[in-house]
Amino acid sequence: MTKHTAFAGADGGTTAAAAVTLCAPPRARGARRVAAGSLPELVRRHADLDDWMEKHPSALAGFESVLAAAEGKQVVMFLDYDGTLSPIVKDPDSAVMSEEMRDAVRGVAEHFPTAIVSGRCRDKVFNFVKLAELYYAGSHGMDIKGPTAQSKHTKAKAEAVLCQPASAFLPVIDEAYRALTARTAPIPGATVENNKFCLSVHFRCVQEEKWRALEEQVRSVLKEYPDLRLTKGRKVLEVRPSIKWDKGNAIQFLLECLGFADSNNVFPIYIGDDRTDEDAFKVLRGMGQGIGILVSKIPKETSASYSLREPSEVKEFLHMLVRSKQRRD
Ligand SMILES: [Mg+2]
Repeated sequence: MTKHTAFAGADGGTTAAAAVTLCAPPRARGARRVAAGSLPELVRRHADLDDWMEKHPSALAGFESVLAAAEGKQVVMFLDYDGTLSPIVKDPDSAVMSEEMRDAVRGVAEHFPTAIVSGRCRDKVFNFVKLAELYYAGSHGMDIKGPTAQSKHTKAKAEAVLCQPASAFLPVIDEAYRALTARTAPIPGATVENNKFCLSVHFRCVQEEKWRALEEQVRSVLKEYPDLRLTKGRKVLEVRPSIKWDKGNAIQFLLECLGFADSNNVFPIYIGDDRTDEDAFKVLRGMGQGIGILVSKIPKETSASYSLREPSEVKEFLHMLVRSKQRRD
């Protein structure tokens, strides 16, 4: 089994802290603090990582097991965008995808129905990916559209697919966007992104001492908008309509559009790196079909079965999937 070689993730910050909380036994009162980066601390972290990797093995090292589970079934590929196909960057508008990654996604889409499932506005994520043959589910799945270019997997019903379960919330989301932008403006580095059916308050560039103040400001604004709710992602506070519709619902909807509702012959693969992707991992676990793959360098509580360390490993996994399909065809 491939072992992770480094513990510290690009994510750092709260995620790393959460991971340590998850894995470390509580320290007795008065016990000596083990310095971060000290040898005992590094040994403990590697042991935690090894335990976690036993439960969530690398999808590269475990590729043959993935293939065996998918044998005879139609693979359907679901891909998150940020942190999965593109690296996490300070400026969310600069999260571009490499040409090599685009080739890998294009290759997968030639062989399997493929959807991008992102928290971003659908138009924005399309402008990053630029592949018309894919399905796109933006705003955490609240804005779904079928391919605009013909592919061999496209069915007439799926081509016309358009699902916007939160349309009624658009006016209140716009109003909350303006209020949040004004209220967070005094906090240097905070940015509010309008994802049409949801909002993202990014704090990757905010000093850590100001994180709590920022969250308090956001919560204070949201008191005026009881129809909206707050969730947390990787250095981002997500504001969404308070309806039960998430990435899990989105993949169920798309599988239905593709004609796989209640089918035993489908093998969905969902790859994502964030807490919002857990909704999709849970749906797959509940279906008892397909696999979830968490992109992470550090142990995290997850419903995914497998792991990949970073987008470059996602790219390699996609290439392996295509090569294995080509060998069989
Ligand atoms: Mg992500």
